[in-house]
Order: sequence, then C-alpha cells, then structure tokens
Amino acid sequence: MKKRVVIALGGNALGNTLPEQMIAVKETSKAIVDLIEADCDVIVTHGNGPQIGMINNAMAALTREVEGQPNTPLSVCVAMSQAYIGYDLQNALREELLNRGITDLPVTTMVTQVRVDADDPAFLDPTKPIGHFMTKEEAVHAVNQYDYVVKEDAGRGYRRVVASPAPKEIIELQAIKGLIGHELVIACGGGGIPVVRNGNHLTGASAVIDKDWTSSLLAQEVDADVLIILTAIEKAAINYGKENQQWLEHITVEEAEKHIQNGEFAEGSMKPKMEAAVAFAKSKPGRKAIITQLEKSREGIEGKTGTHIEL
Ligand code: ADP
Ligand code: MG
Repeated sequence: MKKRVVIALGGNALGNTLPEQMIAVKETSKAIVDLIEADCDVIVTHGNGPQIGMINNAMAALTREVEGQPNTPLSVCVAMSQAYIGYDLQNALREELLNRGITDLPVTTMVTQVRVDADDPAFLDPTKPIGHFMTKEEAVHAVNQYDYVVKEDAGRGYRRVVASPAPKEIIELQAIKGLIGHELVIACGGGGIPVVRNGNHLTGASAVIDKDWTSSLLAQEVDADVLIILTAIEKAAINYGKENQQWLEHITVEEAEKHIQNGEFAEGSMKPKMEAAVAFAKSKPGRKAIITQLEKSREGIEGKTGTHIEL
C-alpha cells in the first residue's frame, strides 16, 4: 500500500520575492519528488504570506493610480497567489520529475475555496498582518477609503491586519480526491480562498486562513497517513531559545497538548503547526504528523529526524 502524504510548505520553501521563489521551488521540488520516489502519494499545500502582501499592494496601487478601478477583495488576492505559486511549483516539479525519469505523473494546481463561518469570532478581531508598512496618514486613508483594519506594529509603522478564521469545509474536496494517485496535486494554497455560504452562492470573505489549519483539515478529509509540515526548523522545542531548550522528537498527542497549554510554542508560528498536527494525529489511530525542515523531509518520514506527533 502506498503511503498517502499531505505536505505543507512554509515560507522558506517559497522565498520572499519573485526571483527568490523561482530558485526556492527547485529545492522544494527535490524534497517532494524524494517522497514520490519513496512510494508516497503526495498532495502539496503551501502558505502565501509574502505573496499575498505583494499582490495586495499591487492591486491597491492599481486602485490608486487608475480611475474607475475598484479595490480588489482579499479573496481574489488569495486566488491570484494560488495561481502564481502553483505556476512556479508546477514548472519546477515537472522538471524534477522528468530529470528522474518519472514521466507518468502530471502536476496540477487546484484553485481551492475553503468555507469559513461568517460568525467566526476571528472576524471581530483581525490579527494577521499583511502587506507593507504605512505611515499614519496612509493608514488613516486606507481605513477611510477601503475599510481596512489597520494596527500599529511594534513601533515600526502601521499595517493592515485581516481576520484568520477557522477552515470548515474544502469546497473542491471531491475534485482533489479524484486526482490523488493519478496526478500530483497542489491544493489549498495560502490556506484556501476564504468563502462564506449564502444558499448555493459562495461569497469571498475578507480573510486569510492559516495554511497549517487547512492542511490538517485536508489531510483528515483525504484520509492521509501522514501530515508533514515543512518549515525553517528541524524540530520543535520546549523552552525554545532558552538555556534549557529541549528538542521534541517522538511525542504523544497528550504531551503536545500539554506543551501547547504551557505556552511553549509562539503564536502565529509554531503554535498553529502544533495545533494542526494534534488535530490530525488525534482524528484517527495510525495517523502521524511530522514537523521538520524542508531539506530533511525524507529522513523525517523515515523517522530519523523531526518532531513526530501520534496518539
Ligand atoms: P512557516 O513559514 O513555515 O509557517 P514560521 O516562521 O511561521 O514558518 O514558523 C516556524 C518558526 O517557529 C521556526 O523557524 C522558529 O523560529 C519558530 N518557533 C517558535 N516557537 C518555537 C518552538 N517552541 N520550537 C521551534 N520553533 C519555534
Ligand atoms: Mg507560519
């Protein structure tokens, strides 16, 4: 039986600028194709932090500079980021597959909508900063002109903050499932395009969903064996950055939950990864989540490194 693996790519797998991304995806593709050679069915997800910032800024400039161009909704910016990142990944993955003589695995990016609840409390308290820093005058203008929520960011200036609600349903799930095993699918990019349901209509929501959370939901829904979250660090730690720091290797869901409760993992970086890992690992016996570094993914899945979370 082939192992089914959902692999979630973090920021360092994609870089911060257009040229950086084009280079980064080459290394990323090697790690992904390593897993395919190790006889895994792989589904790829990814974040979009820097890219959504760029696209949002570019679309805001369009609105400023060209009369009659309305503001671009954040949901549309997420859709654009999925296509752009998907393009670079498809291109690099295709090349890496061909270089290794794998000619029967097409690569596809699924533009993916993810339903969130309109009454998710996250909408009342936007916390996720996106885009460039603004002066006070620019911030006031953005609030008045575009209804942005803007917050002061640690003395460095003002930034737009957006809601980060919980993912409830992957709209294109059946389409994704139909491709697994026949094609290498990239899905749920940037946490998915946030939408709310109005009868049969899905309306884009002004939000950015956490990609770690959506990846966990996807892994559960496609009945994956492994969720592997690739980030900038080889293992998670307790007492992180302190003298008594201790790397975590094989831990139970119960231990992970205790560490989350004790505040061992930073908000917005390691904490959502741990929460996503726990949600997946506890959803069914035999499911395992691994948090490790991109370059270590193969050793990680072989159990030689990384932080492994199981029931
Ligand atoms: P990604 O782009 O992959 O989502 P993040 O920067 O959001 O990456 O999260 C990974 C980072 O979390 C690590 O590089 C590390 O600096 C930080 N981090 C915070 N708390 C911990 C911890 N307890 N153990 C390990 N890393 C931690
Ligand atoms: Mg992150």
